[in-house]
Amino acid sequence: MPTPLRPRPKPGLGAAAIGAEEEALVLDVLRRKEPFRYYGSDFKPTPPMAAQFEKEFREYIGTDYALAVTSGSAALEVAMAAAGIGPGDEVIVNAWSWIACFTSIVRVGARPVLAEINDTLNLDPHEIARLVTPRTRAVMVIHYQGVAAEMEAIQLEAHRRGIYVIEDCAQSLGTRYRGRHIGTWSDIATYSFQYNKVATSGEGGMVTTRDQRLYERAVRYHDLGNYRPYHAAIVPPREPAFAGGQFRMSELTAAVALAQLRKVDKMWQHCRALQSRIVPRLAGLKGLSLRRVPDPAGDFGFEIYLMLDDPALVAPFRDKLDALNVNCGQRTGTYPQYNRDYVKTGLAHAPAASPFREFKEWPAQGYRAEDFPRTEELTKRFIALPIGWLYTAEDADYIADSIIAVHCEVCG
Ligand SMILES: *Cc1c(COP(=O)(O)O)cnc(C)c1O
Repeated sequence: MPTPLRPRPKPGLGAAAIGAEEEALVLDVLRRKEPFRYYGSDFKPTPPMAAQFEKEFREYIGTDYALAVTSGSAALEVAMAAAGIGPGDEVIVNAWSWIACFTSIVRVGARPVLAEINDTLNLDPHEIARLVTPRTRAVMVIHYQGVAAEMEAIQLEAHRRGIYVIEDCAQSLGTRYRGRHIGTWSDIATYSFQYNKVATSGEGGMVTTRDQRLYERAVRYHDLGNYRPYHAAIVPPREPAFAGGQFRMSELTAAVALAQLRKVDKMWQHCRALQSRIVPRLAGLKGLSLRRVPDPAGDFGFEIYLMLDDPALVAPFRDKLDALNVNCGQRTGTYPQYNRDYVKTGLAHAPAASPFREFKEWPAQGYRAEDFPRTEELTKRFIALPIGWLYTAEDADYIADSIIAVHCEVCG
């Protein structure tokens, strides 16, 4: 193998883009001494940062209501509670998804029902018909790493059965599908601003919806059942109070997240420009294809997925790319849920809180690797190549050159 021609480029999107804009907004909060979103020391009108963040966020996505929360996991739990999902209910969710997708369903007492993915690496829309039961209340759809799921088919399949669609946009803020932002293809959508995401404030989350009732219930659940005047001015209260959790975003978090939100489209253009230098050069390589992207015009492009026909070639292919200083991975943070410890035990924090307590044998059918042949097969064949904010056009050309050289050696 040739020695690396270029140093390894530094990966990362939002975190790598932190600069003077984030500093200025954080300093503004500190100088006003108002880190809490609902009031300052003299109980003046609402401090501006979380409110401004919600306003610009809903305008950016093109939706009606946005509620800032403490994390993407909190956002999922709030969405679930807003939809009134609880014990006895089932929620269909990708078997291949982030931990929080599964745990947020368990946390409200409902049962996650795992679904296969397809060659988009997102939910297979046909799974809804296979898995729906009279107890199904929702389908949770993950837009995995910047590529939208097939929302038209998913929305149709779900709504004809009267179940909610919840979009988990945590990994894909900025991604579009058929000309609209993801998050507008569902009843309620969630986002994360954790460190690894497109836009980051270290931790943070958002819930969006077009439904006034879901908005009010989300606000109540995220603030201990309260519905403060700030929200009542947006949607007048109609729902009774109910016990909630505490998932309020601070003004400091909102300051960083707001500065980051304003950079998302620049990151989108950057990643798409670099991806378009790489992808066309990979066409026609034998034994290698790319992840199917349902709407290429809306793709974020911050991660390219090579799919090798032969899973045995994935490790040598990846090792050779790595030796050339090309950042790549076989597994990202996402995992098949059935391989996680909490699925293997089927436990919640207390025995009666487990939605699996009725099963005589565990893991039951639908919670074991052998029940997901397509997810197993697809996720053993890919190599993920990130594109970062600090990558240059030369980095992109070098990545394409390296893939072609390694392909020649490994698949040739
Ligand atoms: C990161 C992530 C979450 C959770 O977000 P946190 O802010 O880390 O709690 C949820 N779903 C998906 C798909 C994610 O990638």
